[in-house]
Amino acid sequence: QMLFRIVQELVLFDFSIEILMDSTTATAELGWTVYPAMGWEEVSGYDENMNTIRTYQVCNVFNNNQNNWVRTKYIRRRGAQRIHVEMKFSVRDCSSIPSVPGSCKETFNLYYYEADSDTANKGSPAWMENPWIKVDTIAADESFSQVDLGGRVMKINKEIRSFGPVSRQGFYLAFQDYGSCMSLIAVRVFYRKCPRVVQNGAAFPETLSGAESTSLVAARGVCVPNGEEVDVPIKLYCNGDGEWMVPIGRCMCKAGHEAVENGTACRACVSGFFKSSQGDHQCLQCPINSRTTNEGATNCVCRNGYYRTDSDPPQMPCTTIPSAPQSVISIVNETSLRLEWSAPRDGGGREDVVYNIICKSCGGGRGGCTRCGDNVQFVPRQLGLTESSVHISDLLAHTQYTFEIQAVNGVSDQTPSAVTIMHQVSRTPDSITLSWSQPDQPNGLILDYELQYYEKVNVHLSGITIVLTVTVRKASIQMVSRSNLIVQVQFFFLFCYLFAEEYKSFFQEKLPLIIGSAAAGVVFIIAVVVFVIICKRRSFERPESEYTDKLQHYTSGHRMKIYIDPFTYEDPNEAVREFAKEIDTSCVKIEQVIGAGEFGEVCSGNLRLPGKREILVAIKTLKAGYTERQRRDFLSEASIMGQFDHPNIIHLEGVVTKNAPVMIITEFMENGSLDSFLRQNDGQFTVIQLVGMLRGIAAGMKYLNDMNYVHRDLAARNILVNSNLVCKVSDFGLSRFLEDDTSDPTYTSALGGKIPIRWTAPEAIQYRKFTSSSDGWSYGIVMWEVMSYGERPYWDMSNQDVINAIEQDYRLPPPMDCPSALHQLMLDCWQKDRNNRPKFSQIVNNLDKMIRNPNSLKAMTPLSSSVHLPLLDRSTPDFSSFTTVDEWLDAIKMGQYKENFANEDFTSFDVVSQMTMEDILRVGVTLVGHQKKILNSVQLDRKPHHPS
Ligand code: AMP
Repeated sequence: QMLFRIVQELVLFDFSIEILMDSTTATAELGWTVYPAMGWEEVSGYDENMNTIRTYQVCNVFNNNQNNWVRTKYIRRRGAQRIHVEMKFSVRDCSSIPSVPGSCKETFNLYYYEADSDTANKGSPAWMENPWIKVDTIAADESFSQVDLGGRVMKINKEIRSFGPVSRQGFYLAFQDYGSCMSLIAVRVFYRKCPRVVQNGAAFPETLSGAESTSLVAARGVCVPNGEEVDVPIKLYCNGDGEWMVPIGRCMCKAGHEAVENGTACRACVSGFFKSSQGDHQCLQCPINSRTTNEGATNCVCRNGYYRTDSDPPQMPCTTIPSAPQSVISIVNETSLRLEWSAPRDGGGREDVVYNIICKSCGGGRGGCTRCGDNVQFVPRQLGLTESSVHISDLLAHTQYTFEIQAVNGVSDQTPSAVTIMHQVSRTPDSITLSWSQPDQPNGLILDYELQYYEKVNVHLSGITIVLTVTVRKASIQMVSRSNLIVQVQFFFLFCYLFAEEYKSFFQEKLPLIIGSAAAGVVFIIAVVVFVIICKRRSFERPESEYTDKLQHYTSGHRMKIYIDPFTYEDPNEAVREFAKEIDTSCVKIEQVIGAGEFGEVCSGNLRLPGKREILVAIKTLKAGYTERQRRDFLSEASIMGQFDHPNIIHLEGVVTKNAPVMIITEFMENGSLDSFLRQNDGQFTVIQLVGMLRGIAAGMKYLNDMNYVHRDLAARNILVNSNLVCKVSDFGLSRFLEDDTSDPTYTSALGGKIPIRWTAPEAIQYRKFTSSSDGWSYGIVMWEVMSYGERPYWDMSNQDVINAIEQDYRLPPPMDCPSALHQLMLDCWQKDRNNRPKFSQIVNNLDKMIRNPNSLKAMTPLSSSVHLPLLDRSTPDFSSFTTVDEWLDAIKMGQYKENFANEDFTSFDVVSQMTMEDILRVGVTLVGHQKKILNSVQLDRKPHHPS
């Protein structure tokens, strides 16, 4: 009998192994099965702490033919595919045993046997290889020859073997001795696993090693909270040793979050810091003039009054509009003028300040001003001046002009959100209290609201400005006189919106100047308009009670009247008397001819009704020598117009029928008809401004529709525009449609009357089905006209070609830079089935949504995709159709830059086709709309041409 004292090795706790069985932790007998009975024997021993442990010994070296087995108890596999066995044992050196036979061994065999349950017994499985599977023959590294007298055992061997794959529920191990003198001191059975880990920004679950020692088991990682996968799905592989290796992919903290704790967690950026994109970088401090509104900011919003352009990077400080240009001087020379100024004191923090010159002529004593016509020349140009002087020529003598020099920069077009909803809270005879809701998307923290209302002298906003600054969304206005305030609710808001657009928070210097008198001087600055709410006060002859009626009328849509066709009156003069106010001819002063109407000249002039302030009006006259039928047809327009009362319908002041000439007097629309106005201002409005105009037209059409009136001739030429860019539907005359009128080629003879083919819905052309749905089709065409700045629908195609193309489901393509949401709305208006076209109320709502959410207007239709077959887009011609650069510039309506191109030697298509944005700036194209137009055309040419 040998005595062993066991030295327990210090085993460091290892996360990568999971123990299935450990003989050293047995508290009682191990009770393994031995065969035969005289072979292995269970013996107690001690570890170095003198704890009892259980060992198996055998030492039958003096007998031949030994075959001694000992079998462990059943060991559950617990999911492992490869099993590791660590054995500690000692073996007696055969040569140290006196007179031992040659059969003495110093090795033993390790076996395993798989079973789904603990079914082994004394005789089964049989004690032999197969059924048992041999793992290995285990030899001692060191055998020992004697036990020292202190009882210490030297020479403990440790061997580890592994086997697999195992697939049954569990297994047994067996140790076979065939003639050695040994002691099996400890047996540990375990499997390897890769422990739960956070690596590369992702958490990986505990993963068991594979069946072979060389296996790699893939584990899918899950990004830590607020982390995101970069490119490929993140994976790690667990090897046979329970080690993670070969990471693939990674997670990074998403925008607004930064990595902390060695990349094992993503933390939201603290207040005042931001992170704009996914990545490893840390949150950055907000740039100057910006701040965060919450933790985890992905960008810093600009402080009130500061802005960013789309191209400003998020780490750039927010900037503001420039201050006013300084020290303006004017040098007058007969009918020309030179203006010089110095740069604004404050460029708003930006380098891109340019100047615009706004020219208004304020006609002799009428008090109103209009924009100067095309005849006034500006050198080098009127808008987007980079230098601080301009030469203006071809001014009219004895005319008062006002010039505004605007300093603008990249953020000047960042209009504050408009206040869109307003309520009347209360009303007393001499005050009105209004409240309004917060704008949907303020560009910053709202500190206060500025409420402006104007005394409206004549039509132009030139009266006294009253400005109220309030921090709450409520204000009371004291009225000077109780009889003449009218609030036109819808008009009011659109008007406010566009006003804010027009002024764009510029600082402006105004320089009134009278040519010929060399008087210059009074310089004043219009302050920054933050949230503009403007109440217009204007004389109105209706009684006070109308005010409340109107408010209800416009806000609720109830109390709608139905339009009455004047031709249903037996005596059409009766209709005129009923719907139009007779004006005494002495109240009307004709000033100048502004256009040609069908029945005579259209003039501008003044109307001064008794006890009322003088106002600017348009006067349509009936030329002398008219027939009774012409008089009736002429006045029918007044009887129709007189029934309408809406901010987007041209307003009838009255008629003169009792004296010659017969006149129809309407409000004056400073900017004339929409088609020519847009052509004159090509590319100069923001999309929001254009949508604002379209919104006005749609609101007017909705009103007409609600009144049961079908317009039949909705087109940009029949929309008038006032100085505030408010669009109003006009032209209610019917005579154009009459067969015998031959004046206008736009109107093509068709069965039963004349029709403006390009604007008219197919069913109206084919069988004269004019409805508000056919007006809807025309509205789509107006949208297209507006978005293309007055381009002719279907260009130079013939009417018959247009009819055929429409029949074959071709539709107009989106104009250049037209947001896809707007083109989609056009396509909706051009549905073949008129019942599928949107109603005007839907169109208004749709456009309102776009105005409130300008981001929806960012997406542009890609050139290739369109639901309907697009017509060939000829809005951007390419070079192949031209022989000179000048010709090309004319064709894209950029003829004003011919000289600039020539001066910079961009005179052949070779060089023009290589133009970059810098080149375009260098030739002096500073207006964004014009830049885009030129660049688009250039880029179109760079693309390979497709046959179309
Ligand atoms: P109409 O006969 O209504 O088509 O008018 C002929 C032209 O006169 C229009 O195209 C406008 O340029 C101009 N015009 C008509 N009405 C007005 C108005 N209320 N204000 C300013 N211009 C007008």
